[in-house]
Amino acid sequence: MSWSFSIGHILGSDLRVHATFFLLLAWIGTATWLAEGPAAAFANLAFVLALFACVVAHEFGHALMARRYGIRTPDITLLPIGGMARLEKIPENPREEIAVALAGPAVNVVIWLVLVLGFGVPGNPAELASLEDPSQSFLERLAAVNLFLVVFNMIPAFPMDGGRVFRAVLAGSMGRARATRWAARAGQAIAFLFGYLGLVSGNPILILIAIFVFMAAMAESSDVEMQDLVKGVMARDAMITAYEALAPSNTLHAAEMALLSTTQSEFPVVDADGTLAGILTKSAIIAHHQGATQGATVADVMLTEVPSLELTGPLERALDALHLPDIATSARKPNSTLVKALARAFHWKPMQESGEFATITELAAREGIAPSYMMRVLRLTLIAPANVTAILEGKQKPEVTLARVLEPFSAIWTA
Ligand SMILES: [Zn+2]
Repeated sequence: MSWSFSIGHILGSDLRVHATFFLLLAWIGTATWLAEGPAAAFANLAFVLALFACVVAHEFGHALMARRYGIRTPDITLLPIGGMARLEKIPENPREEIAVALAGPAVNVVIWLVLVLGFGVPGNPAELASLEDPSQSFLERLAAVNLFLVVFNMIPAFPMDGGRVFRAVLAGSMGRARATRWAARAGQAIAFLFGYLGLVSGNPILILIAIFVFMAAMAESSDVEMQDLVKGVMARDAMITAYEALAPSNTLHAAEMALLSTTQSEFPVVDADGTLAGILTKSAIIAHHQGATQGATVADVMLTEVPSLELTGPLERALDALHLPDIATSARKPNSTLVKALARAFHWKPMQESGEFATITELAAREGIAPSYMMRVLRLTLIAPANVTAILEGKQKPEVTLARVLEPFSAIWTA
């Protein structure tokens, strides 16, 4: 995800450029330079940048229309295959979804009109047909690609714009989940066609778009089915009511202890008067292990901006909130094996006390896991780097004292 860079904050959205986009620019620049010299290379690059400016305008069309319905667009990312506006959620009202989907292509229609009416570019699409024609001026080609963007985006391949309109129209008669399933199937069929055309014509961009449409259709389809599943269910119904809570003043040691002794991966942090002060996530606890040895408290590392829901509110809203950063990412990272391994280490305490010696192989055998996996677990857990080195040196000298391996945990036991 971090392969994209922010290049500014415009109209409430973070404008990001994916690293591979620079690769595209470098490729186009180099290829034209070698074939036709520097002047052509700069002309081509200028054209590609103008084209992507139109793509950005298209995405802002979606974002600004979504804002009218109270939906924010945290970021817009430029990829070599086009732009991607990440809306906080997709409007469920079919009419709103259609408006948001059409707002993007509408921007390109406006750009085309401005070029035709304002700059006297010939408006006949037939004359604009060939992008490769070198006799065409910069503006003529720009007008042509804007028309192309409209036509291409309106292909009913969900989740492209045309596919969204298609889904919204279907949703009117068959419900959103079924409509999405059908639109996604149609999208995937068209993706296959794109892929085929891409292979036949040797166009790598078309192949990338095919893969992207195929995967995105699948992901969004399962997302919507999930939403359908929780229709009519309240947040309260899915809520956990028995859990371990922490206080802001608790030490991180205590939090590590709680992490080991429970199956929770998020801990509500509750003030003395019972109000929620924040959430402490497993990844934060693990990331701040150094801080734990220096007496840091829960309040130092907890998340304070926690989205909240009404007890009787729809559970769907909880799913929407999962798409927000922070909590979502921490909840999604599958680190449960790590914590299970920690919990196991915890149970080895009697061995540690008896001063027993064990090799990695023996430890692995005891836990019924592969030695290589045991090795990884030990490297990943909160074990201090010095101890890891000792374990790794165990290749020459296979015996490690368990006490040394578990040294960092002793602090937790005494906390
Ligand atoms: Zn669009």
